[in-house]
Parts: sequence; C-alpha cells; structure tokens
Amino acid sequence: MSLKGKTALVTGSTGGIGEAFARAFAEAGCNVVINGFGDAQAIEKLRASLEGKGGKVVYHPADVGKAEEVAVMIRDAQRRFGGIDILVNNAVTRHYAPIEEFPVDKWELALAVNLSAAFHTIRLALPYMKQRNWGRIINMASIHATSVVRDRVDYVTTKHAIVGITRAVALETALTGVTCNAISPGWVLTPHAERQIARKMEDKGCSREMAMRELLEVRQPSRQPVLPSHVAALGIFLCSDAAASITGASLPIDGAWAIS
Ligand code: NAD
Repeated sequence: MSLKGKTALVTGSTGGIGEAFARAFAEAGCNVVINGFGDAQAIEKLRASLEGKGGKVVYHPADVGKAEEVAVMIRDAQRRFGGIDILVNNAVTRHYAPIEEFPVDKWELALAVNLSAAFHTIRLALPYMKQRNWGRIINMASIHATSVVRDRVDYVTTKHAIVGITRAVALETALTGVTCNAISPGWVLTPHAERQIARKMEDKGCSREMAMRELLEVRQPSRQPVLPSHVAALGIFLCSDAAASITGASLPIDGAWAIS
C-alpha cells in the first residue's frame, strides 16, 4: 500500500517491533522519524537502510519518558516534514518484581515511558492531523492489557491504561478523519523474546527449538510466535482507507492467546 508523502513517527524504533513498523512505513513511501536508544553507529546504519526505500528518514534521540524531549521531537518533525500523519507509540520499559519490592523509580519510569509519552505525543501531533482531517494513531498495547501476569505491575498497569487513552482519544476524534487504535500482540519474536529464549536454554540446558516450544506452550495456542513484520503489517492496514471506520479498537495479534 502506498502512503507516499505521509510522515510517520515511531517511538522506540531502534529495534524489535518498532523497527519493523519503521521499515514497513519506509517501504510504503513514508517519511519516517525513528527514535529510541542504542549504539549510534547501528542506529545510523538502520536509518540509512530505511532511507534507501523511498521517503526521508531521520533519527531523533528523545527520551520519551521526558515531556520536554517529546515536545522537541514533535517540533523537529513538524519543522522538517510539516507535521506527523501517522504516530506509533511503541517505546517500552519493563521491570519484573512483586509490588512490595518494586523500585519506585522503575514504576515512575514505566508510567512516563509506557503511558505519559503517548499522552504527550498525541496531544502535540493531533492538531495537525485534525487540520488535515486525516491521521492514524497506533498505540502498542499487549496481551497483558487484558490478561494479567504476576510480578509485572508496571507493564500490566500501563498496558491496561494505554487501551484507556486509545479509547478516550478515539471518542474525541470520532467526527474527524483521525483514527486511534491499540494493537495487542501476544508473544512476538523480538530481541526481548530472544533473551527469554536464551534464558530458558541456559536454565534447562535445552535446544532453541525446545526452549521456544516450552515458552509457546504456556502462551499461544497457535504454538507459533508472532512476527514483528506481521504486527507492522496490521499497522499498515490500519493506515489504509479500508480501516477508516476502525477506531477505539484494541486488536489482538496473538495466535488465540487472549481467548484461551
Ligand atoms: P523492545 O524492548 O525490543 O524495544 C523497545 C524500544 O523502546 C527500543 O527501541 C528502546 O530503545 C526504546 N525505548 C525504551 N525506553 C525509551 C525511552 N525512554 N525513550 C525512547 N525510546 C525508548 O520492544 P518490543 O519487544 O519490540 O516491543 C515493542 C512494543 O510492543 C512495546 O510497546 C511492547 O510493550 C509491545 N509488545 C511487545 C511484545 C513482545 O513480545 N515483544 C508483546 C506484546 C506487546
């Protein structure tokens, strides 16, 4: 699908699902603003490889957990491209601990990066979208926006809340050409999943295949990992005209995990 001439901003796109989104938007002809942490050389390599696909690609190093840095990133994107047509709130932080041992700073960080960042990007990007009467906002939720796990109070809470902000914004923009949806993946084959696989292989002294089988057994009835490119393809569909009436939804992509 061609989204030629549109500008997409994907937070946390230096790896994983965010990188897949950036790639898909670049391939669809968008100008893309990538963002996230990582090795400067690797980020530049990624930026250059995406720019070869069509539109312009710029990297912005904003820490999206800081409101003032989000504002600078949005302003820079507006200066460079006029405004943001497609916004993907994807950046994430995670910590694992029971609530009574959960470090307060990690909780504050999760609220800032996983939730408040979306509040700030949306409030700052929306006026341009409304002015053009076209816009697509995609918030990355998770299976854990509905299905709760232990010792992940930061993630579970912020993923529930991101669905809340998605619905609130969808209602406020319902009379416009802007849609706002959440995507709720199950277990996606990302660097985060690779770390889980490596840990399982070490704990059990087993093969990669066995580790993946065990991880999938307790999660996805499909017994297949979701691919980052499939999540991005769903995002591209949400940007199409055919998806103009889909707004306020939280769309699962989870091999039947949510219904199991
Ligand atoms: P990841 O951990 O691989 O990447 C996270 C990205 O966010 C990185 O680019 C990182 O640099 C960036 N980031 C972290 N803190 C930041 C900050 N303060 N400012 C700017 N960037 C920051 O993530 P992933 O596993 O690809 O997940 C992407 C999204 O999909 C997340 O919202 C996650 O909750 C959701 N999700 C992932 C899975 C999965 O299986 N991996 C499943 C369900 C939902």
